[in-house]
Amino acid sequence: MHQGIMKAWLESSHLSGANSTYVEEMYEAYQEDPQSVSADWQVVFDNLPPVNEASASAPEAAHSKVRDYFRSLALETRGKGASRVSDPELDAKQVKVLQLINAHRFRGHQNANLDPLGLWKRDEVKELNPAHHGLTSEDMEREFNTGSFAHGGETMKLGDIVHALKSTYCGSIGAEYMHITDTEEKRWIQQRLEPTLGKASFNSDEKLRILEGLNSAEGMEKYLGAKFPGAKRFSLEGGDSLVPMMREIIYRAGEAGTKEIVVGMAHRGRLNVLVNILGKRPAELFDEFAGKHADVNGSGDVKYHQGFSSDFETPGGNVHLALAFNPSHLEIVNPVVIGSVRARQDRRGCQDGLQVMPVTIHGDSAITGQGIVQETFNMSQARGFKVGGSIRIVVNNQVGFTTSHHADVRSTEYCTDIAKMVQAPIFHVNADDPEAVAFISQLAVDYRNQFKRDVVIDLVCYRRHGHNEADEPSATQPLMYSKIKKHPTPRKIYADKLIAEETVSANDVTGLVNTYRDSLDAGDCVVKEWRPMTLHTVDWTPFLNKEWDEDYDASLPIEKLKELADKLVDLPENHKLQSRVAKIYGDRKTMAAGEKMLDWGMAETLAYATILEDQKRVRITGQDSGRGTFFHRHAVLHNQNDATTYLPLRNVADEQGPIDITDSVLSEASVLAFEYGYATAEPGGLTIWEAQFGDFVNCAQVVIDQFLSSGEQKWGRLCGLTMLLPHGYEGQGPEHSSARLERFLQLCANHNMQVCVPSTPAQVYHMLRRQVVRPMRRPLVVMSPKSLLRHPLAVSSMEELADGQFHNVIGETDDLDPKQVDRVVFCSGKVYFELLEKRRKQEINNIAIVRIEQLYPFPEAEMKQVLEQYQHVKDFVWCQEEPQNQGAWYCSQHHFWANIPAGAQLTYAGREASAAPACGYPGLHLRQQESLLNSALKLSQ
Ligand code: AMP
Repeated sequence: MHQGIMKAWLESSHLSGANSTYVEEMYEAYQEDPQSVSADWQVVFDNLPPVNEASASAPEAAHSKVRDYFRSLALETRGKGASRVSDPELDAKQVKVLQLINAHRFRGHQNANLDPLGLWKRDEVKELNPAHHGLTSEDMEREFNTGSFAHGGETMKLGDIVHALKSTYCGSIGAEYMHITDTEEKRWIQQRLEPTLGKASFNSDEKLRILEGLNSAEGMEKYLGAKFPGAKRFSLEGGDSLVPMMREIIYRAGEAGTKEIVVGMAHRGRLNVLVNILGKRPAELFDEFAGKHADVNGSGDVKYHQGFSSDFETPGGNVHLALAFNPSHLEIVNPVVIGSVRARQDRRGCQDGLQVMPVTIHGDSAITGQGIVQETFNMSQARGFKVGGSIRIVVNNQVGFTTSHHADVRSTEYCTDIAKMVQAPIFHVNADDPEAVAFISQLAVDYRNQFKRDVVIDLVCYRRHGHNEADEPSATQPLMYSKIKKHPTPRKIYADKLIAEETVSANDVTGLVNTYRDSLDAGDCVVKEWRPMTLHTVDWTPFLNKEWDEDYDASLPIEKLKELADKLVDLPENHKLQSRVAKIYGDRKTMAAGEKMLDWGMAETLAYATILEDQKRVRITGQDSGRGTFFHRHAVLHNQNDATTYLPLRNVADEQGPIDITDSVLSEASVLAFEYGYATAEPGGLTIWEAQFGDFVNCAQVVIDQFLSSGEQKWGRLCGLTMLLPHGYEGQGPEHSSARLERFLQLCANHNMQVCVPSTPAQVYHMLRRQVVRPMRRPLVVMSPKSLLRHPLAVSSMEELADGQFHNVIGETDDLDPKQVDRVVFCSGKVYFELLEKRRKQEINNIAIVRIEQLYPFPEAEMKQVLEQYQHVKDFVWCQEEPQNQGAWYCSQHHFWANIPAGAQLTYAGREASAAPACGYPGLHLRQQESLLNSALKLSQ
């Protein structure tokens, strides 16, 4: 069909009138949607060169330019050779040539030489065969226009075009990028791949650098294998090119002006990267193998989870490297790394992402299998989380532990297909061709810096040993491993190549091997670019070895608070608020004027204002954090006329700290992991993650177990992240009542984190300020309220904010005579107000109520002080809303027991044990609630 179209315009003596209009119209349609025109015309338009090659940033050619292009092509065709104008068959072949070029750009990777073992069985892609397009061997000698193919001249012999296409697209690199819709990006990649036929011309020094990388990768593993036979090291062997790849990435980034690179990776090859890239001293690693490592603090972690920091000298300046600590949960470290990068970028005021770059290293089965990868891709361009793109490397050894059959591990062609969701370019590369690896590494860094987007390198390699070194892989992968046994190592292959081309001699190669082994023997750092760290932009020492109960002063003069409160309610005149929001701000005005007690939203906002006024950063993310899930915060005000937004907290002082309140992507795991990463890289300010409903935090359990609760113990990494988790039994059913307090309490030990249940606006104010003012940096888990946000009794005065501080325990506040008291009820959270109201209503004066506002670390001293006046009491009750198997009862009762007078009894008033967190029927909820209050207050059921 296209022959007719092409004939029509090629045979036209000029493109004018109906023809040109037709082409223009089609081009317009193509610009809107490439699928709207026929496949033939898509090929023609795809291959149009940019209007102005010098300006690769020009958008797609304007249609008038297209007309001119076609016109010039027609004129040129007429001028160059009458035969082409007058030979419709040849003209039709011209289109076929363009189709062939396009086929290689789209599908060349499917027939590229990617698998070092040669085991991949891939169908021949017939579109890559000239014959499929009707192009014959005679045509190979004919000249054809090359369209936008960026190699050679405007015309080339077909034979040369085919050769160039095969070299570029079917060699050691399989470039997948035609799924990108932005033409400029596609052109950019073509301009990088096609002129050089997908190869870099490295000079002998650069080649030697690559060989040294492979030499160190292999040398390290062999040394460990010989010295510690059978010990788990998760060898890199087979994927040795990762080492030269990392070096190229660091060099390239350093030259571009990057100051810090944060790396995340799982076990495979980690020891190698630690020693050969980050410059960890081999002697230190050997000590760890020998079990000699002296525990300093905490429980420690196995060697292949360890992080490391160093500086690396490049011609562009030193680059600080930080390898993130990592649990066994593959892939979860990725959002942690991205969060850490964002914190560093924010601190440097780097908006384009250039100064700090993330590199995440994935396994082939994990990148396709783990949902967190999708979540992280989804964040990659989202306002609150973007970092100007990540370099994502897949160490694709074609097997996950023992599972390798394609049909078992994934449903996609490549393990990297998930990256297409953000239109990231994907470069598959044969790991046995280290020059191709180095070339694509440079390209990836340049792409990331140019377009600020993620880019993927799929390092297709193999795994020389089993999952770990004690494993026997041929039990499950017999053919693969019989091949691997005979397959030369990447170092040997490359060394032989360099010897053959006389870049190095055989003696040089042997010398390299021996020198490297000797340096391992010596035990000193083997990375010649290693430099001691000097690039810290943050100092953690003020936060080391601090305890939660150390004294701190967070008081502020009431005048200052009033001044801040006035600023918070001083809105631009033309910023029209929605009526309910206007009412809330009207109320806040009266609170600021001292005419009304402060509610939760006002006190919380004031806490942020004081921190900002102190020049510190505040960052809050969560699914509805701008407004607040329960309509209480309204930190981001939406103009009803033009939908612009205004953040009062951005205007609290002439010089203030930055504030970011961003509604997050709809994820818990990746967002919490990101914020953990952020907070572990930024000790100075307040970083908060807020769950929409508390129990949604379940989806982020790995982050809580593996990082938040244990990161300090395992890795010495402090983290002051605050988690606001709405919690409280309001009859909203099983999924919206509980933030699973019990799970957090169960993880508490070694003062690893704080679990608080603040019950008043003053308490939330002080709790948030304390988290920043006090130098201790440990996670703060908050059971935050819902109905209390508007409870008439849950109010505080400005004085309570100015003069007070966070009370870990709040004793009886009503005027009861302690001597009359014969029962003390302990509780936390909103049930306190229900108990209080009922007690007042029933005029009970022999039951005191004590609120425990910090359940962990348990505030022994304050508890003792509060209970001093009740030493005669024998009847203590813990009252909770949660079912008995949940809430604080089982996890905290030993603390309650330890603090009541000797001989006293402690009993439970709460819901019966239940599999579900709460019932789904409002009537039943009310009956249960009534019953637990009655039980706590000794009222009849
Ligand atoms: P990094 O910039 O992550 O490479 O960290 C540089 C150095 O700062 C580390 O070697 C640690 O000594 C210290 N450091 C970084 N993050 C933390 C943290 N979260 N807790 C304690 N110390 C840290």
